[in-house]
Amino acid sequence: MKDMIIYPGSFDPITLGHFDLIQRAARMTDHLVVAVLQNPNKKGFFTVEERVEMLKICTKDMPNVSIDSSGGLLVDYINKKGGKLILRGLRAVSDFEYELQYAMLNQRLDKSIEAIYLMTASEYSFLSSSVVREIGHLGGDISGMVPEAIVDTVKQRLLLAGKQK
Ligand code: ADP
Repeated sequence: MKDMIIYPGSFDPITLGHFDLIQRAARMTDHLVVAVLQNPNKKGFFTVEERVEMLKICTKDMPNVSIDSSGGLLVDYINKKGGKLILRGLRAVSDFEYELQYAMLNQRLDKSIEAIYLMTASEYSFLSSSVVREIGHLGGDISGMVPEAIVDTVKQRLLLAGKQK
């Protein structure tokens, strides 16, 4: 396996599904970089700074994991970082279709970059950042969906926004 793996995503916010992938991938490489990338198709709820901060809190005891953020094209970011391997997660067939398209596009832009995929852990297969946001806005219980260390922050931010609607 490569000495560096880059795990890009929106992480809006990080869920236990993301966290499970981070833990598993950290065991496969010397250095895992989790990168918050602004996806122009997704408006985003938390600011990039907030997402980075939450990722940092959740990974603070993982010495070979670092957190970063970037705008622009993923392949440009990967090249700038000096990496060659991207990690993505798969939950369902719908993820596969999206990831296939995304991988084809990245291959077209830069053939030297490879992607690897980890299957979701079954207990997190239903979990996405949008599910967390939806439940949190409505005042539902999001513990067991995001890492314990950020439950209260996420809850408060979402509840406040839900009330302002
Ligand atoms: P993006 O906007 O780039 O899809 P996300 O933060 O939604 O960003 O997801 C980042 C990556 O993590 C994607 O590859 C997604 O499939 C994967 N992922 C998201 N939730 C889970 C989960 N519960 N289990 C496994 N992988 C997941």
